[in-house]
Amino acid sequence: MTRSDAPTSQRPDAPTRTTMAARAIVESQFERAADLIHLEPYMRRILMRPFREVQVEVPVRMDDGRIEVFTGYRIQHNGARGPCKGGIRYHPEADRDEVLGLASIMTWKTALMDIPFGGAKGGVMVDPRKLSKLELEKLTRRFTQRIAIVLGPYRDIPAPDVNTNAQVMAWILDEYSSRQGYSPAVVTGKPVSLGGSLGREEATGRGVMYVMAEYARDFGIPLKGSRVVIQGFGNVGSHLARLLVAEEGAKIIAVSALEGGIVNEKGLDIPGLLEHTAAGRPVPEWPGARRITHEELWTVPCDWLVPAALGGVITRETNARTLDCKVVVEGANEPTTPTADLVLAERGIPVIPDFLANAGGVTVSYYEWAQNLQQYRWTHEQVNRELKATITKAYQGVRDLATQKGVTLRTAAYAIALQRVAEAERLRGN
Ligand code: NAD
Repeated sequence: MTRSDAPTSQRPDAPTRTTMAARAIVESQFERAADLIHLEPYMRRILMRPFREVQVEVPVRMDDGRIEVFTGYRIQHNGARGPCKGGIRYHPEADRDEVLGLASIMTWKTALMDIPFGGAKGGVMVDPRKLSKLELEKLTRRFTQRIAIVLGPYRDIPAPDVNTNAQVMAWILDEYSSRQGYSPAVVTGKPVSLGGSLGREEATGRGVMYVMAEYARDFGIPLKGSRVVIQGFGNVGSHLARLLVAEEGAKIIAVSALEGGIVNEKGLDIPGLLEHTAAGRPVPEWPGARRITHEELWTVPCDWLVPAALGGVITRETNARTLDCKVVVEGANEPTTPTADLVLAERGIPVIPDFLANAGGVTVSYYEWAQNLQQYRWTHEQVNRELKATITKAYQGVRDLATQKGVTLRTAAYAIALQRVAEAERLRGN
């Protein structure tokens, strides 16, 4: 199975934000960067608000014969630089505000990577754990029918997100294609056998590693032998752990998942842990390490701290003042609240922001789309090579602007993205 911009499983532990609405986080970060590039008020208004919002009611005949109705959204934040791009999540809290905040992050992420997409997000307010597989398929097909009018390979291209996966993308592809003709490029994160890209599943973790490797070289924290703590051992966290050990010789000293965490200062045996979790066993039951609580994870001294599970986990009120790391690398979306961000800046702890660090997923989604349009398949090596080049270039641009202007990496990343989208808007006549 392949993945796109976020998790693929129908697991009950699928992450969602815990403290602050996605939209509020994005707005405060936006203003700081807009000030830096002296963005005109009218352009702020265009770029802060969505281009188009679709809200639909999705009736589904359940297995017991009842009809249940779910509310769904597809919000296209901006399409000035190309077709809108972003995942679809199934979650009881996937309301308009959450979907809109995530849609705007996609605009900045695609612009920062300089890939020819805008930003969108979709969501259905549903707890997929309560649905049978057949009900989930019916929901997906109905939702697709109702939003199909705004989708298309050159209009808006969904991908998996929280609680949706390659199978869900296959149903969307089938439903869309049944009316429009075979259209694999209408979704990414598809199964490889239906036109998904090699390397897509590990792409986000791999991208995080490439960014860390560049930062390590620039700021003298060699990855080899360095101590890494990762919150979350799902798609992003587990691939990152595996790759950091295998390709960079780093030591993963602590990880956590929904059930709790583990620590081993000498370095965890990641291949062994992966076998353990692949067999369906919880992370804290791994015998090669000491169990720790969720709270203890934040106190483990390390070089790199990678939140790769939930939004809003680093806050001023809880852990921002006490984290004992050299760098925070945001594998998850919005793990650091704006006030925690300020605390970390005061403490001199750099934060590599989410829409740079975790952009590997959408970047390889772009390659998937390009392969579908070319009707040609790239090798895994080619995908990795292109990903490394794209994300490294983005990182270098952010680093240079941050150094030049004396701002955080996050503000620099936003400024670059805003500038690109604003330029496209102006050139298109706005
Ligand atoms: P996933 O569902 O595969 O894994 C999530 C992991 O977090 C699981 O190991 C789960 O047990 C763990 N978790 C849940 N609650 C936890 C808690 N309270 N404490 C510790 N761990 C907990 O999800 P994923 O695809 O790895 O995504 C993780 C984050 O990365 C999300 O914020 C997602 O939006 C972001 N992201 C993912 C991708 C991608 O391609 N998968 C791309 C960009 C951003």
